[in-house]
Formats: sequence, structure tokens, C-alpha cells
Amino acid sequence: MHKPATKPKCKRCRQPAVVQLPAHHSAFCRDCFFVFFERQVERAITEERMVRSDEEVLVAVSGGKDSLALWDVLDRLGYHTVGLHLDLGIGAYSRLSREKTEQFARQRQLRLEVVDFEKYGHAVPEMVRFTRRAPCAACGTAKRYYFDRVAAERGFSVVATGHNLDDEAARLLGNVLRWDVDHLARQRPVLEPSHERFARKVKPLFRLSEYETAAYAFLRRLDYVIEECPNAAGATQLRLKEHWNRIEADMPGSKLHFVLEFYRRAQPRFVEAKAEAPGTCERCGMPAHRSLCSFCSLVLEVERRKAPASAAAG
Ligand code: SF4
Ligand code: ZN
Repeated sequence: MHKPATKPKCKRCRQPAVVQLPAHHSAFCRDCFFVFFERQVERAITEERMVRSDEEVLVAVSGGKDSLALWDVLDRLGYHTVGLHLDLGIGAYSRLSREKTEQFARQRQLRLEVVDFEKYGHAVPEMVRFTRRAPCAACGTAKRYYFDRVAAERGFSVVATGHNLDDEAARLLGNVLRWDVDHLARQRPVLEPSHERFARKVKPLFRLSEYETAAYAFLRRLDYVIEECPNAAGATQLRLKEHWNRIEADMPGSKLHFVLEFYRRAQPRFVEAKAEAPGTCERCGMPAHRSLCSFCSLVLEVERRKAPASAAAG
């Protein structure tokens, strides 16, 4: 005779569990899961010295589950935060993402800065059309630039992003598969600035899996954008995540172990090549290794190619 399957109980309070976490040999009810989640974030911030007690944190918020979960949890933990949303100008996806982010900020009365790419003439589809660069390459350059620029102009020393454990594990696996030593040297939960106009970049969710941030966002009833960016489909990062999920299903805890052990032991051995201290971009005044920073080179390329196109159209 089969014994009836016992319903999992919360590890902390013995109430029925709603979230099961094989990687942690745990299951939690809703409230205890929130405690678990907050502790993982606090632990990441404290152990990695991400934020000083007097620092205001600029939180990069896309409107997706990870970044809204991050902003929510930092606010609940009592950190002083300001949101930064980059409206990338990617059609309906960007409109919806901005709406969700603005709504979140309004409901909690949190300050939000928005940079509207279209207004500045460099919406991502436009940059791609005129430069033929891969969308994520152009978008990534622009995003990194604005995180630093807004931080520098508004006086923030730290920028937090919603990268979770799955993002870190996929990126790490990709870097290892290529033995990309330069990227391995820079893959850290905290990236200290190499110039006074750069901010420290921190990833307070790096201990939490995508499933855990999704569960948090769901249980907190966060209204986030569910649609993926149309450019994300087929990205290598997504395929690496699928491989990881197969490994994780077979060997729970592998993702966390792989990433944590890399940070603890292996990462310090990848010594970053001492790059020359950056100079100043002649167009925007941000740090640059050449006469122009990589974002300004991209924008100038767009403007140069756009000019003959618009002349021909006129
Ligand atoms: Fe930008 Fe690519 Fe992400 Fe879309 S998927 S938001 S284009 S980096
Ligand atoms: Zn520049």
C-alpha cells in the first residue's frame, strides 16, 4: 500500500509550505520565505560589503520581476533607494516596462529617474538599424553608460542591478566555456569603480535563483512586465540557462555551489590586467579609453549614418 504523499511543511514554522527549494533542502510558507529571501539579500550585501550604511542606492529598474523584487526588498530592508529606468524605445515592450516601473514607484512613493532613449534620438532599434550592431551589444553599451552617467550627475556612488543566481551562473558558464580570462577577472558580485566618475556596481540578488525571485515577486504581488524583450529570444544567455536548469534538476544546488565557489576561491586568481587609467571623453566628459567613450562613438556612428539617410528621404 502506498503511503499518502505528505505535504511539505515549512522548515521554520511547520505550516504548509508554498515554496520548495531543493538546493537549500528547504521548503517555506509565504511569510518564512520572505524572511529567507531578505536574509539572502542582507547576507550578500554584508558579506560582499556592497553598500555603506550612509549610502543612497541607485537601483536599475527595468520593470521585470528581478529588478522590481530588488527595489522592493531593498526598500523593505530600510535602504535609501532611488530607481533608474532606461526607456530603451523598443516598441510595446518598452512602453509596458516603463508603465509598470512608474506605477511601482508611484504606489510606494519612491523617487524614480527615467532616461528616454527615443527623446535623445538613440532608441535601441534606431541604433541597430543605423549601425548594424547586434541589438544587445548596442543596448548593453548604452545601459552601462547611463548607469554611470546618471549616478555621476546625481551623486550616487553605488548602482544596484537585479542580476540573480541564474544570470551569474549562465554568464560564468559562458565565460568558462570560452576561457574568457578578461571577463572572468571582472565577474564579481561587486565591481569597484576604476574612475571617480564611475559608480560601484553591486548585485544583491546574486545568491537567489530566478525561481526564487519569481516566487518572491509573485507572493508579494508585484505587478511586473512578463513579456521578454523581443531581442532576448535565442540569446546565448537563455540557452545557457536552459542547460543549467537540466543540471540543477539532476543535481540540486549545483548553480549556487558553482557561483559561490568561483567567487570565493577561483575568481581572485584571475588577475585583472592593469588597464591604463581612463582619460576623458571629449564629447560627454565621462571616462574613456580613447578620445570618445564607447557610447559616444556609437551615437556618433548613428548620427553620421542617419544624416545621408534623412537627406535622401527629404
Ligand atoms: Fe537590451 Fe538585449 Fe536586454 Fe533587449 S534583450 S533589453 S536589447 S540587452
Ligand atoms: Zn562620451
